[in-house]
Amino acid sequence: MHSPDYTPSSNFIRNIIEEDLQTNKHGGKVVTRFPPEPNGYLHIGHAKSIVLNFTLAKEYNGRCHLRFDDTNPTKEDVEYTESIKRDIKWLGFDWGEHLYYASDYFEQLYQYAEMLIKDGKAYVCDLSPEEIREYRGTLTTPGKNSPYRERTVEENLDLFRRMRAGEFPDGSRVLRAKIDMASPNLNMRDPVIYRILRSTHHRTGDQWCIYPMYDFAHPLSDALEEITHSICTLEFEDHRPLYDWFIEQLPVPARPQQIEFARLNLTYTVMSKRKLLQLVEKGIVRGWDDPRMPTLAGFRRLGYTPEAIRDFCERIGVAKSNSIVDLALLEHCLRVDLNKRAPRRMAVLRPLKVVLENYPEGQVEELEAINNPEDPAMGTRKIPFSRVLYIEEDDFREDPPKKFYRLAPGREVRLRYGYFIKCTGVVKDENGKIVELRCTYDPETRGGSAPDGRQVKATLHWVSAAHALPVEVRLYDHLFTVPNPGAEEDFDACLNPNSLEVLANSFVEPSLKGAPPESRYQFERLGYFCVDPDSTGDRLVFNRTVTLRDTWAKIQRAQKG
Ligand code: ATP
Ligand code: MG
Repeated sequence: MHSPDYTPSSNFIRNIIEEDLQTNKHGGKVVTRFPPEPNGYLHIGHAKSIVLNFTLAKEYNGRCHLRFDDTNPTKEDVEYTESIKRDIKWLGFDWGEHLYYASDYFEQLYQYAEMLIKDGKAYVCDLSPEEIREYRGTLTTPGKNSPYRERTVEENLDLFRRMRAGEFPDGSRVLRAKIDMASPNLNMRDPVIYRILRSTHHRTGDQWCIYPMYDFAHPLSDALEEITHSICTLEFEDHRPLYDWFIEQLPVPARPQQIEFARLNLTYTVMSKRKLLQLVEKGIVRGWDDPRMPTLAGFRRLGYTPEAIRDFCERIGVAKSNSIVDLALLEHCLRVDLNKRAPRRMAVLRPLKVVLENYPEGQVEELEAINNPEDPAMGTRKIPFSRVLYIEEDDFREDPPKKFYRLAPGREVRLRYGYFIKCTGVVKDENGKIVELRCTYDPETRGGSAPDGRQVKATLHWVSAAHALPVEVRLYDHLFTVPNPGAEEDFDACLNPNSLEVLANSFVEPSLKGAPPESRYQFERLGYFCVDPDSTGDRLVFNRTVTLRDTWAKIQRAQKG
């Protein structure tokens, strides 16, 4: 697990940048980029990269580009580009005028490819994909040269132009860089840089039937945008020699420097877009923004704040070795943030009716409740109190076990902001299920204390039955039953069948009427909740964002002793 102790100012990427600024390596500039492929929604791992790239740019008075790496038309879609832009803005970052698409460079990239051919550094290869794989060799055996490797420049140029013109079927030929089939680095064994693919691109339509490969398009796009520090995840470390090779061979306007850092992994979470897409397509979740998804859209819908996610990204820092971060840390960051800003409200998830036998029929009192004890400026509100109330089902036990201090027959408890009440009777239905409690209240205890100084051991939340709003509440749990689902062979087998529980008969206090989607509250004693966009004018739907139990803080306290 990652250490919670961190110093935002010290990480190895900042050190590299500081040094480059001192030696004037990139003309004293810092230009970073976030380069998503628009083939899915952004997830919390992307947030780590976004926060890193945008904050570094800001810190060093530079800029951060948003560039869509849209070189694979079969998997990409405008729905994804739009969601990505929306999510980055929601996180609180702004690329200003620096929005780019790799597809904007297709013509330039094509010209670069022709230059490589003219320099004898690229050739058209007619081997099938299987043959190319076979010829590549393995980590322990060198590759074999393709029989097409020695084609003349004229022949290569002619074939490549005809590839572009659409003369050959998909997959029949590729353009390859001519580097070294014996290189110990497999990426350097004449990698494919263009393929023939008839697929309508979401931006360039049917203008192209050949598309550049990522390893070719990415470094050159960086160079065209004069990126100084091209920050990516560790799996690209072995691609760096190839990245540098393209930059060295071609007359590009800048020489970006690739720097790798460890990707974020989180317990109980998968982060591969391919797997996330499967969850959506198989209907295991309701969509990319399902509150159980680790996507930013999912976290937003669940009730996360961008501030909490940014704080989390700062705390985990950046490192050079892969690790898995405890989801409890992310939840801790959220609780710290919501504790400061979420208004407190009363809600009862599983209602049990309470009738106060000595409270006058028809009487209603307005009790004053504090909106947020952490922030006096948030003021107070009135909540109605009357003869019939709901309390939480599990705040009552007919036969209380030891250490159960809440309501029980003959016992007295406090109602938050209200009175002391005492249970005098239990009403059951024909099956023996408790359907109602009979209680008395002590009119002398208004405000929550008894003039004779007697104490009670519990304070319960409640709502007034005649005034409360009926709502739906959705309770979420981890999507997976194992801490590291990404490592499982069959991740379907570790799906949590109880990741969503819907409560259709919950109640909230009337002040929540008209609460807008995405507004967040702390329901006293229950957790943080957020209004779901499924809400309609007369029926609110709440998502439980997170409970109040902070396991991370507990771990920290235990470690400190
Ligand atoms: P996948 O492999 O699931 O398709 P990806 O990582 O290739 O996802 P991209 O859209 O290419 O997705 O990612 C955009 C940027 O976000 C890249 O620079 C990538 O390195 C970074 N990134 C992706 N996942 C993580 C992660 N878990 N932690 C940190 N950065 C990440
Ligand atoms: Mg990628």
